[in-house]
Amino acid sequence: MKKVVMKFGGTSVASGEKIRYIADLISQHVGQGYKVVAVISALGGVTDRLVEASEQAKKGNRKYVYEFKQEVIEEHLTVARKAVENKPIQEEIEQTLQTTVDELEKVLTGIIYVGELTPKSRDYVLSFGERLSASIVWGALRDFGLNAQYYTGSDVGIVTDSNFGEANPLMDVTKHQVKEKIEPLLEKGVVPVVTGYIAATQDGVTTTLGRGGSDYTATIIGAALGVDEVWIWTDVDGLMSSDPKIVSSARMMPEISFQEAIEMAIFGAKAMHPRALEPAMEEHIPVRIRNAFNPENLGTLIVEEQKIKRGDIVKAITLVKNVVLVNVSGAGMVGAPGTAAKVFDVLGRENINILMISQSVSEANISFIIRRSLLERAINALEIALLGRGLIREVTAEDDVCVVAVVGAGMKGTPGVASRIFSAIARRGINIRMIAQGSSELNISFVVKETDGEQAVRAIHEEFELDKI
Ligand code: ADP
Ligand code: ASP
Ligand code: MG
Repeated sequence: MKKVVMKFGGTSVASGEKIRYIADLISQHVGQGYKVVAVISALGGVTDRLVEASEQAKKGNRKYVYEFKQEVIEEHLTVARKAVENKPIQEEIEQTLQTTVDELEKVLTGIIYVGELTPKSRDYVLSFGERLSASIVWGALRDFGLNAQYYTGSDVGIVTDSNFGEANPLMDVTKHQVKEKIEPLLEKGVVPVVTGYIAATQDGVTTTLGRGGSDYTATIIGAALGVDEVWIWTDVDGLMSSDPKIVSSARMMPEISFQEAIEMAIFGAKAMHPRALEPAMEEHIPVRIRNAFNPENLGTLIVEEQKIKRGDIVKAITLVKNVVLVNVSGAGMVGAPGTAAKVFDVLGRENINILMISQSVSEANISFIIRRSLLERAINALEIALLGRGLIREVTAEDDVCVVAVVGAGMKGTPGVASRIFSAIARRGINIRMIAQGSSELNISFVVKETDGEQAVRAIHEEFELDKI
């Protein structure tokens, strides 16, 4: 195997020592004859802090912005000084970081002056995390003697629509441009270091691919180049039967299908972008999730279902937090065709993604689950569009819930899985608020109180003996 895209998450670039370590890891692979494209995430936690800084700028908080800028530059300089030993390279990187942070300060100051934070300016602010981290990795790779070059996602040709915050790559142009740009570099022995998560519209305006989007960048590039594999390096050995932070006996899965992995991603396993696997799946490129700090372990290989040797009934359980259950009710909805369409149309126009839906036979209410951060927008939009027209009477929300999703291709056509799941939950005295099973039968998800979530995950993990397989 020769050509791979390697993506390093925030957990792998969290410190100067770690960056040196991954630079070494990349250079070892290059030494073994691999052609490598490196895709880099922001340092752990930086994107969240950029979100906060942009909010503070909108509120006109100059002091916050000033202190934030100081913190960001100090933090990245400290990391860079550890990551790069060669003095001239170190100075060059420090200069780059300084210039980049000055630009960030200008953008935030602009937001303070205008007093407005548009999705467009927000994306511009959020792009700085990756621009800073990738510069440091670029320096570290050169320090290890590699011919590395730094690019943003847009530099290598990733173009998107202008759905800021969750931009969609225009795959045909992107694939063509990325290939044109990167292929010759790889031929010349260059290691391109590309910022994850960020891209641009066709007019060159900066966009982001949505949170966790660096994984997406990696598969987009992988698909464009037709690489042998995409490797997502992270801080756990692979995809596990559950979040190891919740179930200590969670087991690593050596193999899983794209469909199963996508269900897991949508439902929150490994903070992965839900669409990240699409480009790889379409081009039949295997994706490997592996532990940067335990590279002897080959991790989880995500492949097409036909290639999986054994199918377990239930493979993994994930927990989705930070969601709310919204309930739209009213007697006028009974037997009124098109009510559900109206509700979802309103939400769709607001770009609100719905994770789960259920409607009872009585038809007097529709319940659905959305991300907590979207609640206010959802309620406002629904009330403005639908209240007072005789159709719906009330829109209410419960914000202390979470979703437990049970995933496994083997559930398809296996009777009794649901009853085992729900009996295990009932034995713990946990109350279930809502249930949904997709017709794909790859996934059964249900809603419980947030405080019961972790216990529910452990109960099912135990019921299906996922620690033993
Ligand atoms: P990165 O910085 O590498 O992008 P993420 O935080 O996005 O890392 O994802 C890795 C984390 O995902 C792990 O540290 C782990 O706690 C969490 N996680 C949740 N569910 C799972 C799962 N089923 N398998 C593996 N990791 C999981
Ligand atoms: N830095 C971005 C985020 O935190 C993208 C990523 O890490 O994948 O969402
Ligand atoms: Mg991530």
